[in-house]
Amino acid sequence: MSLRDGGDTAVPRAGALECLRDARLRPFWLDSPDAPTARPPLAGEERCDLAVVGGGFTGLWAALLAKERDPSCDVVVLEAVTAGWAASGRNGGFCMATLTHGLSNGVERFPREQRRLEELGLANLDAIQDAVARHAIDCDWQRTGEVNVATEPWQAHTLREEYELMRRFGRDVRLLDRDEIQGEVHSPTYLAALWELDGCAMADPARLAWGLRRACLDLGVRLYEGTPVKRLESEGAAVVLVAPGGRVLARHAVLATNAFKPLLRRARPYIVPVYDYALMTEPLTGAQREAIGWKTRIGLADASNQFHYYRTTDDGRLLWGGYDAVYHYGNRVHPALDARPETFEKLAGQFFTTFPQLEGVRFTHAWGGAIDTCSRFFAFWGTALRRRVAYVLGYTGMGVAESRFGAEVCLDLLSEQETELTRLELVRSRPVPFPPEPLRSAAIQLTRRSLARADECGGHRDLWLRTLDRFGLGFDS
Ligand SMILES: Cc1cc2nc3c(=O)[nH]c(=O)nc-3n(C[C@H](O)[C@H](O)[C@H](O)COP(=O)(O)OP(=O)(O)OC[C@H]3O[C@@H](n4cnc5c(N)ncnc54)[C@H](O)[C@@H]3O)c2cc1C
Repeated sequence: MSLRDGGDTAVPRAGALECLRDARLRPFWLDSPDAPTARPPLAGEERCDLAVVGGGFTGLWAALLAKERDPSCDVVVLEAVTAGWAASGRNGGFCMATLTHGLSNGVERFPREQRRLEELGLANLDAIQDAVARHAIDCDWQRTGEVNVATEPWQAHTLREEYELMRRFGRDVRLLDRDEIQGEVHSPTYLAALWELDGCAMADPARLAWGLRRACLDLGVRLYEGTPVKRLESEGAAVVLVAPGGRVLARHAVLATNAFKPLLRRARPYIVPVYDYALMTEPLTGAQREAIGWKTRIGLADASNQFHYYRTTDDGRLLWGGYDAVYHYGNRVHPALDARPETFEKLAGQFFTTFPQLEGVRFTHAWGGAIDTCSRFFAFWGTALRRRVAYVLGYTGMGVAESRFGAEVCLDLLSEQETELTRLELVRSRPVPFPPEPLRSAAIQLTRRSLARADECGGHRDLWLRTLDRFGLGFDS
């Protein structure tokens, strides 16, 4: 494991294609003059009520919510690099209401609870929107909804089934035929679409993370950056977090370390780090915007197993990401893995298949990042040291909004009482762990190959995928 920020020196070129020639190998969102100056690392010993390990969305929400619940709570955040540098500052910025990686996944697992989970997910998204307004976070927040497009007839069929399910759950959704989706965005590949109007907002993720960071500091949270926690121990009634420059003794701790090696050994079998990649174009010209007809700020994704997600920015660029989901043997996480020229070239080719009208457009940024995939595709929680430590992991590529809910549940788990959230089956249950290596790698590669074949064969799921489905297991990004 390495927690260093990669910069753009590890791999000299994003790819051999002309459109990628000048792409900077760093996340577009983080490559900004708005990036805050890092706070100094921990030096010496500190005491506090709540210590948070990890300064991504989960850790920042945990700190902020703890302060908002009780302003006298003394909170310390320990972040290995800088707040927001990892997944939180380099994602697609799709803030999804779902707490279960989609409605059908939730209905299968929690048939009795799903209606409430849908309400809680929408309330969580509303609460993020309120916090963005309350703390004046300038993150290009747009409550646009998300459109899933079908590029193959079998996907149109799947979208219709999802539409009917979502309507049964009272969701605000629209099914678009070929002409209707072409009226929103033009692509020769689109056949139909499902527009989830209420369940998604788009944001600039780095500016959201930096805004949460500032809100935490304004409320008196002590943030130590450049502070990797190496060990978690207990000393009397205190939880002790040990870093190279010092240690923190806390009454309670939240561990918000996402795809990085969990401090608690018991959590390790449940997540695998999976790399997801994205490209950002230069700002489109008026004529290019006209050619694709994309006038709103909706986020799009296609409905294949290996899917793309894409969106616009406030300065008129297109972000295009997804498709490859790359696992490295032994749960490897390293800054050098943030750049993958063959994936960038594949993504660029697929971009121009979707938008041939944009031939000649260049990419200014290309990057990747690790996702904490678990076998049920959405967060799970746990506690340690007689409920003085809580953690949440496993967002599987949908943690931008769910991280706030994840943090809220962690704080409830640390409180003395049971709450509605801690009683949820969603919170009490766990995903099936991954097998150890070398079985882990073999199973993941087999699943990836089967998913790719399903996309090529009209969505037909082979025996391996059907077996995983039967046991409620899978692999996603
Ligand atoms: C390319 C990409 C695209 C994505 N797109 C989307 C999307 O559009 N929508 C969506 O919902 N989700 C998306 N995701 C997932 C989403 O970004 C994450 O689920 C979310 O950011 C998780 O937040 P986090 O705070 O848990 O993790 P992180 O942001 O990864 O933060 C964890 C932090 O913990 C720190 N840390 C780890 N170990 C230690 C330690 N021992 N000591 C101190 N600090 C430590 C790390 O340095 C890091 O800053 C995407 C992810 C990637 C990589």
